[in-house]
Amino acid sequence: MPDRAPRRTAAVPCSAVTATAPAKVNLHLEVLRRRDDGYHEIETILQTVSLCDEVRVALRERDAGGPPRISLSVEPSGSVPASRLNLAWRAAELFCRTGGLGGELDLQLTKRIPVEAGLGGGSSDAAAVLAACNRLYGTGLSPGSLEEMGAELGSDVPFFIRGGTQVARGRGTDLQPLPGINKGKFLIVKPDIALRTSDVYAGLNMGLTLRSPKVNIRTVEALIARFPTGSWFGANRLEEVVLPTQPALQRLVQSLRESATVALMCGSGSAVFAVFGDERRRDEAWQEVVQPGWQAWAVDPWPGGVRVRDDADRA
Ligand code: ATP
Repeated sequence: MPDRAPRRTAAVPCSAVTATAPAKVNLHLEVLRRRDDGYHEIETILQTVSLCDEVRVALRERDAGGPPRISLSVEPSGSVPASRLNLAWRAAELFCRTGGLGGELDLQLTKRIPVEAGLGGGSSDAAAVLAACNRLYGTGLSPGSLEEMGAELGSDVPFFIRGGTQVARGRGTDLQPLPGINKGKFLIVKPDIALRTSDVYAGLNMGLTLRSPKVNIRTVEALIARFPTGSWFGANRLEEVVLPTQPALQRLVQSLRESATVALMCGSGSAVFAVFGDERRRDEAWQEVVQPGWQAWAVDPWPGGVRVRDDADRA
């Protein structure tokens, strides 16, 4: 069994927990090159925000032999698959397989983060389930071990174990913490367009392009100390694939940039976020840009990553 395999510890396990799974935005996203393994080498600054899914995980018959029996329900029903295709299910399966753990695991997922929006909802749900299983089985794995396990499920999963403000490099799994951003009024707007991450990356005309990393930690730390006042250097390379073919998104980004400190597409889109110095300016921008049929959220920076609480502790 590898070092990071979940093992029972002396901690008293509980039978049901609820995990909160925040969304992320990319304060900067550069694609450096295409790798031989099919992934892209990126350099990004990730920030968790207070738009959250919730996953309740209940464990019964923890000592039953054999592989776990997993069930999943999703609210609103049909928003994402309630099957093994769901990253929450696959996270539970991976956790149990790695540690040779069984039992009956019942997952109830409440989706609030829109799908195919570039907000990382599926990855955050997966991280939430790993953290929830760690608590339920009393296995006491370190955050680092959960991150390592999460990397098998998706490039953004390790980030959601840590959360806050991080530089992510490699395929997005090599994390370096930055001082946490705790100011700024964030607006997220999701037009009625869904974009698949793989299609957007496939549309990047990389050829033999080799771009250099731009994130200088000292400079970024100084910008964060003033955030959201002052200038912000960040850009999203994937906008050059998406915006020319999506005029409504192009107009949305442009008009947000007139009043916000920073306005960028979230990851591979189609959601866009903007940061304002105060609520009044954010509200004005909301009134101005959000069109019928679109969704919008006023959110704050979320310190840290997924959070787990025992259901017994619920008010
Ligand atoms: P990213 O920025 O990580 O690409 P995204 O917002 O573009 O995130 P998600 O919404 O996380 O993408 O997921 C996209 C795909 O993953 C969808 O096709 C969806 O069916 C599938 N998926 C599997 N599990 C989940 C989940 N728990 N939540 C959302 N999508 C999921």
